[in-house]
Amino acid sequence: MSQKIKIGVVGCAGRMGQILIGSILDQDKAQLSGGTERQDSPHMGQAIRHPVTGIETGLMVTDDAEALFKNSDAVLDFTCPTATVRHSSFAATHGTAHIIGTTGMTADEEAALEKAAKSVAVVYASNFSLGVNLLFYLTRQAARLLDEDFDIEILEMHHRHKVDAPSGTALGLGKEAAKGRQVDLDHVSDRGRDGVTGERQRGHIGFAVLRGGNVAGEHTVSFNGDDERIELTHKAGDRAIFARGAVKAALWAAVQGAGLYDMCDVLGLPRV
Ligand code: NAD
Repeated sequence: MSQKIKIGVVGCAGRMGQILIGSILDQDKAQLSGGTERQDSPHMGQAIRHPVTGIETGLMVTDDAEALFKNSDAVLDFTCPTATVRHSSFAATHGTAHIIGTTGMTADEEAALEKAAKSVAVVYASNFSLGVNLLFYLTRQAARLLDEDFDIEILEMHHRHKVDAPSGTALGLGKEAAKGRQVDLDHVSDRGRDGVTGERQRGHIGFAVLRGGNVAGEHTVSFNGDDERIELTHKAGDRAIFARGAVKAALWAAVQGAGLYDMCDVLGLPRV
């Protein structure tokens, strides 16, 4: 039997972290290499268990991210931007594939990931589900085919604990729509409308955000013409879809050369 791929999880006690632990333990080709948390986490030193069955793994939560990167083939990172940037230097130093789901990165923080990707495989995706990556593709195609007579609006809803807005996925959908129209999203994006905003500008891409309950993630891209509207919607029923995609990305990235990849690369989806 071929050797299992050793996968670690930074931020292993987080909402996504716990589900990622379960997905690794459920995957035959993978072996959990450990989990870390921030230094002041109440989970520090606790046993890492399967989140559903409660079965113990024999591993403890530590704060030694560098050791985890050193002892893993791939590390899954759904934490926060400052932590992810710090982790990316460990990935580069130890040649460990880095699978990044963290959202809300600034351009400077993304530049740090690009730097690390010169020496190691980095998969950075605002959304790891198959369905949303298909939605990225469909959004790009629809934006390419429908001209500016169709106003593009992107609506997203997430649980009450989410800290960044619009979601990384909503911004990703905006980027795909802009690509389809061959424009730069930064020049056409309308975010945070409030008060007397003036009329909507032709060709702009608008964002709207809802927060509440325990919604795992819902995104709609609407193309609004005169007297007709096309809506493309994805609804995540459970965060497990992101975790399964991230583990799939880790198995894939562990045998790739250096580079910055996304889920289109992992899933083999077309880019045009
Ligand atoms: P969360 O707050 O529940 O979990 C984050 C965890 O990271 C926490 O346990 C926190 O203690 C830990 N952490 C913070 N700093 C750390 C450090 N230096 N070292 C180790 N651990 C550290 O949040 P969440 O809902 O799990 O989401 C985490 C991130 O993943 C967010 O940015 C979210 O938007 C993103 N996310 C992405 C996808 C995707 O498919 N790309 C899906 C869901 C969530």
